[in-house]
Amino acid sequence: MTVRTRVAPSPTGDPHVGTAYMALFNRCFAKAHGGQFILRIEDTDQARSTAAAEQMIFDSLRWLGLDWDEGPDVGGDHGPYRQSERRDIYGGYAWQLVEQGDAFVCYRTPEELETLREARRADGRSTALKPADLELSDAEQMARKAAGASFVIRMRVPDEEGACLIHDRLRGDIELDWSMVDAQILLKSDGMPTYHLANVVDDHLMGITHVIRGEEWLNSAPKHKLLYHYFGWDMPELCHLPLLRNPDKSKLSKRKNPTSILHYERMGFLPEALVNYLGRMGWSMPDEREKFSLDEMQAAFDIDRVSLGGPIFDVEKLKWLNGTWLREDFDAQTLKERLKSWLWNDETLDKILPHAQGRMDVMSDFIPMSAYLLSGEVAVTAEAFDGTADSQEELLKRLQFVLWRLEAQQDWERGALFAALKGLADTLELKPKVLFAPLFVAISGKSSAYSIPDSMSILGPDLTRARLRNAISVLGGVSKKAAKRLEKEYAALA
Ligand code: GLU
Repeated sequence: MTVRTRVAPSPTGDPHVGTAYMALFNRCFAKAHGGQFILRIEDTDQARSTAAAEQMIFDSLRWLGLDWDEGPDVGGDHGPYRQSERRDIYGGYAWQLVEQGDAFVCYRTPEELETLREARRADGRSTALKPADLELSDAEQMARKAAGASFVIRMRVPDEEGACLIHDRLRGDIELDWSMVDAQILLKSDGMPTYHLANVVDDHLMGITHVIRGEEWLNSAPKHKLLYHYFGWDMPELCHLPLLRNPDKSKLSKRKNPTSILHYERMGFLPEALVNYLGRMGWSMPDEREKFSLDEMQAAFDIDRVSLGGPIFDVEKLKWLNGTWLREDFDAQTLKERLKSWLWNDETLDKILPHAQGRMDVMSDFIPMSAYLLSGEVAVTAEAFDGTADSQEELLKRLQFVLWRLEAQQDWERGALFAALKGLADTLELKPKVLFAPLFVAISGKSSAYSIPDSMSILGPDLTRARLRNAISVLGGVSKKAAKRLEKEYAALA
């Protein structure tokens, strides 16, 4: 048997370090067994998937050296590797299950589903809707069909009793109660498959032998096991890796830690160090050495050495490791090349020069004027915010609202950023100039800088958000209680 593994990210938002973590372990497992590693793009959520996000996945995984043997951009014998290009494949499989009696057509409306869930809740049962809950009388089913009502296809699942036995390579046998498993939608009313159907069909058709993915998917395993059984297919071996965690043990989230691979690239981390650090998340070299390359990890890789305690992704430790790579493994020439390809290059200068030129008298002005755009963090003091708002409370509120607004922002062109910030200023009944005043300090550490939308656009989403978060914390932070109140006020704005 040739080992075949895959990483299957959804192209929504920025490429996540969790995706790199999965790619690394899948790649190492495949290579350690002389197998193949595949990249599949799971873009069935058409509303949230974008071509730009897909491109960022390609670029960031390649930057880390985690390239793939088969995938949307390199081809292969099991393509297409983008689920949106496979949409015609899934319908047939869903209808096959309907014909077999393992799935059914469901005409229930969202309101009815809510009522059905409510009824289960009132009975003290789980809200996982079962086929018996969803069934309509024959006459009603026919009437809705005749009226052309929209429908979905759902899978049959056992009723309340008993548990599904799942074998996980790292966890051994696990029992998951059937009572929690609902009659999952397989095909949506628009004909698109859900994750569960597409994932199982594709893993089978692509000859995936080992599914190595995040722990958060463990609860989906009973549905997947049932689907493999209905189709009469062998199930790949399952291996759920532990979730990466923030230093406070919560699930790694961009609210507490930068999670975008692009952030680490932009901050000037080395791909070697990031891969090395991810390789230490729940895994260690047989000789326990801290520093190793991707090739060394692949050669020594043994997935059974993964430990399950939630690994902590600590940026300070990563920084330390990065420093050791920089100092010990790079000669001056290599470092010079890296520095040039990182930021001191035409692309960056082209972005900054138009803003600098109008303000420079001598060329040496350029560096101090622009340093905040080339740096990772900037030094900010609470005093620097003096006079930028009427009160400390108002100041924190504005910064927090801007942060929330920008956490939802997709488009980082200066025009779109200006519109977003101006929109917020308008709803707060502030002149943009007034809202921007503390932003200059948060973003540049100074009271004046290049325009705020331009600066944010050049810095990109992660650094911008990180600086806003840093400013809030320098100003004393927002307590949980205050955050609750602000959330309400913010929600009421929209
Ligand atoms: N598309 C899923 C994700 O975004 C894939 C999960 C899996 O590996 O099965 O993580």
